[in-house]
Amino acid sequence: MIPLLKTSLPPSSNLTKIITEVVKTGIIAEGEYVYDFEKKFLQKFGYKYGLAVSSGTAALHTSLAALGIGRGDEVVTTPMTAEPTNLSILHAGAVPVFADINIDDGNICPLSIKKSITKKTKAILVVHYGGYPAKMKEICKIAKDNGLKVIEDCAHALGASLDGNNVGSYGDFAIFSFQAIKQISTIDGGFIVFKNKKYLDFIKRFRWFGLTKGADRTKPSITHVGYKYNMNNISAAIGIEQLDRFDKILADTQKIGKIYNKELSNTKNIHLCDFSGTPSYWLYSLFSRNSKKIINHLVKKGIASSKVHIPNNYHPLFRNNRLPNTKEFYERLIHIPCGFWVKQADAQKISEVIRSYDKTL
Ligand SMILES: *Cc1c(COP(=O)(O)O)cnc(C)c1O
Repeated sequence: MIPLLKTSLPPSSNLTKIITEVVKTGIIAEGEYVYDFEKKFLQKFGYKYGLAVSSGTAALHTSLAALGIGRGDEVVTTPMTAEPTNLSILHAGAVPVFADINIDDGNICPLSIKKSITKKTKAILVVHYGGYPAKMKEICKIAKDNGLKVIEDCAHALGASLDGNNVGSYGDFAIFSFQAIKQISTIDGGFIVFKNKKYLDFIKRFRWFGLTKGADRTKPSITHVGYKYNMNNISAAIGIEQLDRFDKILADTQKIGKIYNKELSNTKNIHLCDFSGTPSYWLYSLFSRNSKKIINHLVKKGIASSKVHIPNNYHPLFRNNRLPNTKEFYERLIHIPCGFWVKQADAQKISEVIRSYDKTL
């Protein structure tokens, strides 16, 4: 079976070397490796300020807290994402208000954002779903006109860009995840980038119980609640190695995405994503009224295929408002394997399986 998603870690000999080196220093918790990883990540992707944390979910919660978003506040968000995006709004004590999505790329719809804004709205949370960039110019304009902050959830989109800018460089905040199956894995980990230096101190304390690392712990100091959200040195050391491996992982993934773009462009019953910018293709999305049949057929042929996520507003926890585009998008959605583990010949073969099946529909 060609899998839909796959973990990529450094070769095991390197991995053993990295872990042994950190263990020998005697400091496995947050320390110099974390600060080095932060510097290198920011440099590599061209973001201004940023801090590493223990997960993408922690990064989301921390971003909302840094913006002062909490009880009584609303965040306009997208249902078409992994659940942590929207759970983090609840972690912060605020209310997620689901805007509808664009049918063509599955990302939050600017027009629907406008309709979802109330007096209580404080921020717009944008996901570049599957690694296909959201329409950031329009979204940032709406935010500016309404005095709102923008948070980009780039968990699928490391390396994706829009008008020559990396995603994550548009919002006030952007977050990344380094869990097992994201483009860079540090086993578990996350990252927060932001444009304003003033958030640095708050986030450093928020990720460490509200304390300042290195300060005298016998002196009273906590003024705000903090969490155990720091990254550890072992994850950071793996992350440093992963930054060097990332360009190839991204290039290999994008190569497969482009093969599908070309090979599947002339099908009868299957549509491709009508995307903006340069996607990272963390997921490759297809759309068809026959999505279930196609998914079953691919799985039978040894090609993993699935919808991967359900719209978050379908969960009983969230308000189940009616979102017609989300419903249609989800009904038609198909993800197929796209990544460094898919060989070019496999991508051709998968395309051929899909094209032949399309003719029978
Ligand atoms: C993976 C993911 C997250 C959460 O990241 P973790 O590191 O697993 O906490 C958040 N948002 C999206 C869209 C994700 O896919």
